Amino acid sequence: MEPAEREQLERKTTEAEFVAKLLGLLITQKSCLNAWRELLDECVGFTHSSFGILGIINEDGSFDISAVSGADWQSLNVPREQLWQSLTGFTLQGIWAEVIRSNQIIVKNENPGLPWPPELFPRASFTMHSFLGLPFSDTAERAYGMLALANKPGGFSPQDSQVISRVAQALMLMMLRRKTELDLRRTNQALERSNRDLDDFTHSVSHDLKEPLRGINAFSKFLREDYGERLDEKGRHYLTTIENATLRMKRLIDDLLELSRVRRRPNPWQPVLARELIDEVVQTLEFSVKEKKAEIAVADSLPVIACDRARYRQVFYNLIVNALKYSGDKQPRIEIGCEDAAGEYVFFVRDNGIGIPREYFEKIFLIFQRLSRDDADGGTGAGLTIVKTIVEMHGGRIWVESELGKGSTFYFTYPQSHKEKFTCPVERCQEA
Ligand code: ADP
Repeated sequence: MEPAEREQLERKTTEAEFVAKLLGLLITQKSCLNAWRELLDECVGFTHSSFGILGIINEDGSFDISAVSGADWQSLNVPREQLWQSLTGFTLQGIWAEVIRSNQIIVKNENPGLPWPPELFPRASFTMHSFLGLPFSDTAERAYGMLALANKPGGFSPQDSQVISRVAQALMLMMLRRKTELDLRRTNQALERSNRDLDDFTHSVSHDLKEPLRGINAFSKFLREDYGERLDEKGRHYLTTIENATLRMKRLIDDLLELSRVRRRPNPWQPVLARELIDEVVQTLEFSVKEKKAEIAVADSLPVIACDRARYRQVFYNLIVNALKYSGDKQPRIEIGCEDAAGEYVFFVRDNGIGIPREYFEKIFLIFQRLSRDDADGGTGAGLTIVKTIVEMHGGRIWVESELGKGSTFYFTYPQSHKEKFTCPVERCQEA
């Protein structure tokens, strides 16, 4: 092989390695910002430049520099934090603006000029003597951002611009990913904020509603005590209706408050033996269990989970109470267990009660949704909403399977990956 051919082959191999490395970065880096920074370092290293930036255009046309690389940054003589402040919301000018405007790769090895006003970094000893700028754009051909390299000894070659332009596609993909990441983060933050606002609103309205209710309650009591004798049967019936409605209203408000408390005040998580939690609940319900002659079978082997203990206890409590409550005329037989599915535990609470019609399988988890209009059992229809909220706060899902007249099974999941975060205490708990 001729030396020239060998040289060309070697160059092509280095280029291919470089592009492969960038693609590897694109695929493997979890954070787009990190990938960008590494990608820029690679480009600076590959071209032997001593200055590099990578940034995106904001909606208002200003420019944010997301990554800097190369030794020449030190010659700006600005502390790092201050540097970042100066480099966001930046008005593009000079050769940087030219790259974005032309949406073309630009190479200038003589006097590219400073791309920022000299007063921005007054103590800088920086000069730019060679420049390569690569815009990256979407399919609409609009430049979204730019990779700019500078100060390569001897200037940038056509090969440099050829190889670097191959990076454009990868950059564009990363940029879209970054944009999606940011959009998603913003949406999530907005959602969290509005949920918090809603919870605060529910909390304060519920408290406000309680006050007049206390008044109605007190005056109905006075009416019964002081004038009860003088009321005829119809009057007494009206009074009883007011008292019952007030009591029901109080229960609804209490449940609303409870739901907002669950969402507003999560407790720290701790490792918990599921079996212990269930035994505790069953013990609390001893009276109803005896009264209904209920049989409760709890599986022997149940996992240890890391959870908000008091809340998770509420999940089992509400489901077992329902299984007892909606047993119809039968002697309740309740089975509690857990299956080990792919990556999650699937807990279940099964009963042989009245069952639920299919069209209510989802509705029953909505607040104040009940199948029966009978208020005698004291239910408001908030119990399952609270259960669902707690299960979801622990990263799980809940659903019901049921056959009318035969019984229902409530399933809820718990992601096993949570446990990994609590390995030590969980192990200690298992030993105990
Ligand atoms: P509540 O029990 O206070 O009415 P829930 O939110 O706990 O409220 O339950 C909502 C509705 O779902 C109940 O009113 C009932 O109609 C139905 N339900 C819940 N659990 C069961 C069950 N185990 N068997 C049959 N129906 C049930």
